[in-house]
Amino acid sequence: MQSNLKFNWPTVLFLSICPFLGLVGTAVYVYFYGVFFIEPLLLILFWFISGMGITMGYHRLFSHKSFKTNIFIEWILMICGSVALQNTILKWCSDHRKHHNFPEMEKDPYSIKKGFWHAHIGWILEKTPEVNNRITGVKDLEKKSAVVFQNKYYFHIALVVGFLIPLLIGFYYGRPLGALLWGVFLRITLVHHATFFVNSLCHYVGTRTYDVYSTARDSWIVSLFTFGEGYHNYHHKFPADFRNGVRWFAFDPSKWLISILSLFKLTKDLKRTNEYFVMKSKCDAIYNTVKSSFGNTSSTSKQNFIDSFELINKLFIKWKDIDPTFCKKYSKDELDYIKKYKREINMLFKDLKNFKSKILKNQKIQSNTI
Ligand SMILES: [Zn+2]
Ligand SMILES: [Zn+2]
Repeated sequence: MQSNLKFNWPTVLFLSICPFLGLVGTAVYVYFYGVFFIEPLLLILFWFISGMGITMGYHRLFSHKSFKTNIFIEWILMICGSVALQNTILKWCSDHRKHHNFPEMEKDPYSIKKGFWHAHIGWILEKTPEVNNRITGVKDLEKKSAVVFQNKYYFHIALVVGFLIPLLIGFYYGRPLGALLWGVFLRITLVHHATFFVNSLCHYVGTRTYDVYSTARDSWIVSLFTFGEGYHNYHHKFPADFRNGVRWFAFDPSKWLISILSLFKLTKDLKRTNEYFVMKSKCDAIYNTVKSSFGNTSSTSKQNFIDSFELINKLFIKWKDIDPTFCKKYSKDELDYIKKYKREINMLFKDLKNFKSKILKNQKIQSNTI
């Protein structure tokens, strides 16, 4: 009897029935009635709408304020996010800000320290103590008209846009059940678990390119089905940045859409971390990884590594001397110097990476022979 109190049973029921209908229901339907081309399109369209509502809206705009936009776009993003059925903006952002402000602590709603399952979905299914469940730290959002409206009509919006519209489309082409299975249940399942994987998988597997002390990791695979949210180590290091995939080729549709909209003045004040900090954090991450693995490394390899790291740091100091505030307008000479430093840092960074591989490989060989 006592254990029943641990779970939110309506949520457990919904989060079990929805994937069952989405996966098994759709498979059975396809087996008996085949696929009509509109159905996968419905899935893709509504997945895109709800996924972008979460990543660009709930996450990068409302939680982190990584760019500004007008009320119209705020409303669109609010409607799209509601369709994902991941709770209201206020609750989502409150939880997410706690995740960033108190990582892996008791207040972190989806702390990976409590295990993969808890970080993935357990925290939603389990009853959270009242004190941790409170909506806090979102006063800045409470006056936004889109947020106020959503707070009153969250389920109505989700029902009309996320359920009735696909159903009506289904009636229009004569297969309402097919439209519901593809466009609602399968789509919700995918968008739910994609977001859940950012909290679980991205704190579990992948690389710690920018901060080796964070449990968050970069995974380009997860970014493929989360509209770019897989670069989670970068995101935890620089949460205010409107990009998660910072390199130009990194798959991050949310970053691209925010950038494209800025060309039409629909988004503005896009927050970008200065390249100095991005490059420095990458070098520091390598140093911190290797430093704890020096062990029996030969003194020459160790010295070569330290020498390269010191040379890089000297270049960073020169770069910072040009622009201590990181927001000035550069003269042509200053720009040339910064370009030169970047080039030299990149060359030394390659050496640093090679030393790292050699030292870590050597460590592995030694530990295997012990
Ligand atoms: Zn995280
Ligand atoms: Zn975040």
